[in-house]
Amino acid sequence: MAMEFDLIARIRARVAARGDVVLGIGDDAALLQPPPGLQLVVTMDALHAGVHFPHGTAPADIGWKALAVNLSDLAAMGARPAWCTLSLSLPEGDAGLVDALLDGFLALAREHDVALVGGDTTRGPLSLCVAAHGFVEPGRALRRDGARVGDDVWVTGTPGDAAGALAALQAGAAVDRALRARLDRPQPRVAAGRALSGLATACIDVSDGLLADLGHVCTASRVGAVVELEALPASPALARFRPEMRWPWQACGGDDYELCFTAPPEHREAIARALAGAGVPAARIGRIEDGQGVRALRPDGSAWTPAVPGYRHFQDPSPLL
Ligand code: ADP
Ligand code: MG
Repeated sequence: MAMEFDLIARIRARVAARGDVVLGIGDDAALLQPPPGLQLVVTMDALHAGVHFPHGTAPADIGWKALAVNLSDLAAMGARPAWCTLSLSLPEGDAGLVDALLDGFLALAREHDVALVGGDTTRGPLSLCVAAHGFVEPGRALRRDGARVGDDVWVTGTPGDAAGALAALQAGAAVDRALRARLDRPQPRVAAGRALSGLATACIDVSDGLLADLGHVCTASRVGAVVELEALPASPALARFRPEMRWPWQACGGDDYELCFTAPPEHREAIARALAGAGVPAARIGRIEDGQGVRALRPDGSAWTPAVPGYRHFQDPSPLL
């Protein structure tokens, strides 16, 4: 059983340096030097065992995901990530568990040149609470409140994969490897968010389900939206399912951490170019209209209503317990 400071020393020994970290882990607080003229973008998200990841998830995947969901929020703002902090709650002072959590956490941090600059370490049920900090040029942040009537609605990647993996897990069925990877190691769309800054009118990351999250954009922007189910891009693994089976995953499944964004039709080509440059596929799935709420349409034009619109923490039973 390691002591708290031993654990912190293990963490400190592994973090990469960044030029703008004047003082990192080890003092009462970190000293950070933001670039002049840029706005600081701050976000925080916690991951709790049994709520945000199934019991039995590999610790390295938990570590990865704890940072990924936060970098996804920065991506959805069009921000460039820089720093993060980690509040760690552990049932026991298990150094091996800390090492394994960090394997995933720091692997993703390296990919995005994010420095872990501080945190807290306490005893309790396994959970990771991460804050992430990034920068954006003034006026260039991607907000939820900028969607306009007539805008296209777009989504990156292939939403629904994580929900497909979860459905198989819950059914006790074999889980497709590609789908499982999407659930356990989501790739925050940081490059896409940066590329969309200046082109998209509004943006959100899909954590609670595409229709539900697009609904947040609509509420903030005081508009409505229509989504064509036929236009939802399906990964090869999902395309093997009947549409009626996979639509709920694609339209309402959370945990994919793709970006849903809006942009005027005259930006179509520029968006395709910008996202190709970022190496991220995207599809047009609908449009913004007058009114409120999100309508989903079947290929024949009839309205489709999902059984469960999206995950709600204080209303739904945990999908993982
Ligand atoms: P304090 O009692 O002043 O809060 P702590 O013992 O909690 O000090 O932390 C000591 C140092 O280690 C601080 O710089 C803190 O930010 C850092 N730290 C503690 N836990 C973590 C963690 N899980 N990840 C990264 N840094 C941590
Ligand atoms: Mg502390």
